[in-house]
Amino acid sequence: MAFNLDEETLREIVRGAVGKILAGNSGVQARVGSGSLRSVNFAGQHGYASRNGIFDDASKAAEAAWAAYRRLSEGGIAARAKVVEIVKNLVVAKSKEWGTFEFNETKIGKLEHKISKLEIVKGVPGVEWIRPDAWSGDNGIMLEEYAPYGVIGAITPVTHSIPTIAGNIINMVAAGNAVVFNPHPGGAKSAVLAVSEINAAIERELGICNLVCCISHPTLETFDAIAKNPLIALMCITGGPGVVSAAMKSGKKSICAGPGNPPVIVDDTADPGKAAADIIEGGAFDNNLLCVGEKEVFVLESAYKKFVSALKDKGAVDIGSAALDRLTSAVFDRKDGKWALKRELVGKDACVLADAAGVSCPKETPMLFAEADAKHPFVIEEQMMPMIPVVPVGSFDEALAAAKAAERNYRHSAIIHSLDVSRMTAMARELETTVFVKNGPSTAGLGLGGEGYLSYSIATTTGEGISNPKTFTRKRRCVMVGNLNVF
Ligand code: NAD
Repeated sequence: MAFNLDEETLREIVRGAVGKILAGNSGVQARVGSGSLRSVNFAGQHGYASRNGIFDDASKAAEAAWAAYRRLSEGGIAARAKVVEIVKNLVVAKSKEWGTFEFNETKIGKLEHKISKLEIVKGVPGVEWIRPDAWSGDNGIMLEEYAPYGVIGAITPVTHSIPTIAGNIINMVAAGNAVVFNPHPGGAKSAVLAVSEINAAIERELGICNLVCCISHPTLETFDAIAKNPLIALMCITGGPGVVSAAMKSGKKSICAGPGNPPVIVDDTADPGKAAADIIEGGAFDNNLLCVGEKEVFVLESAYKKFVSALKDKGAVDIGSAALDRLTSAVFDRKDGKWALKRELVGKDACVLADAAGVSCPKETPMLFAEADAKHPFVIEEQMMPMIPVVPVGSFDEALAAAKAAERNYRHSAIIHSLDVSRMTAMARELETTVFVKNGPSTAGLGLGGEGYLSYSIATTTGEGISNPKTFTRKRRCVMVGNLNVF
């Protein structure tokens, strides 16, 4: 297999490359795959001074990233693998510092979860995913390789600024691309901090500058400039409905990791204690900022009492209907017959929400809940806060219809707690979500306590699924006619 580097070979290549760079030798031989050699020139990128990847201007960022992309190509798979290693090591080493910085900048979520979201970036897949497909037959051989696009324009959310950036870099660079980020303005300082330190490390170790660029003052205009720039071959959007629709209209190919509103069904065959614990684990994580996080629960009436009592046993607090009304007014506006989420209480602690609802709760309360009907705004809107509406339903079919309506055809994520396999199958078929978790917390769908790998960009809208390096490649075919087949 052409890209199968064993770890020791890789280390040897990189040690050699870095040693020569440090010794001022610009011509480095990087061995790629089983024995092939590539000549690599790691001298400074002519015309693009090192800016640690930070730019005010989108077109300058795209040009610098393009030059870096060409340099990365010269380094082959070994250089990509080295970047992945640098990013993973740096993000883990800086997780406390960067997580705290992001928490202080965005003022949403939970500090310990901001840190752990960075520590787990090790679980994002890298160059090992880039393997060619081959056909061999009477007419010769055909090789399909997963090649880079070039420079990718990436939009990141305020809910996970640095984790999305780190995960995107690992996937995109493993696939051979460079990237220009237009981060959410609310998390832009965190983005600039991480991107500049990551770039400095890449330049120090590989001599490639501006492989990862970031717009220092992102706006809708810089988004537009990135989307229109001819050097940007592909967009990757991680965010809500506004930016997804703007990207789809931009005319540029876009991979869209869009919004969700994950429903949960709890039926009468489920273990109520485990269901309650799992829902709190997933839905309270980082104050419910995760797009996969449990946002509303439909419970069969026959299981309702036991489930609600289990939620209370696990520390969740029932605020009751009067407090839910007060919280609803604090969290949503009603405009033109539609509910609109105000941002002030997004990602805040349960106690802050309780305060806004006019009730009190113990300081360490992980989550609030209240009984609601299936059309309540907390059910149908993606609220991104640790307050879960619990809807009693008369039958599984009713639960299914209500969950389908609440998911709003985002086809993002759904969860079921049940031992009835036919109900699991029915929910999977009806909702058609990208992620479907059975009998676990939503986070299991990201490889955290469930099988699979991690990504912070789940391409729901455009259907690529949980992103990985292959998501950021284009297929190229190479054909040899009548020869090289050996069977
Ligand atoms: P957001 O949509 O407000 O912002 C996302 C990004 O888009 C930001 O960089 C923002 O500046 C930009 N933006 C917003 N509107 C734009 C427009 N019209 N044109 C150009 N750029 C625009 O989202 P957020 O609050 O930062 O993040 C939360 C949302 O993202 C939720 O809907 C959540 O479900 C979703 N999300 C999805 C995934 C996924 O993997 N599918 C991951 C994380 C977050």
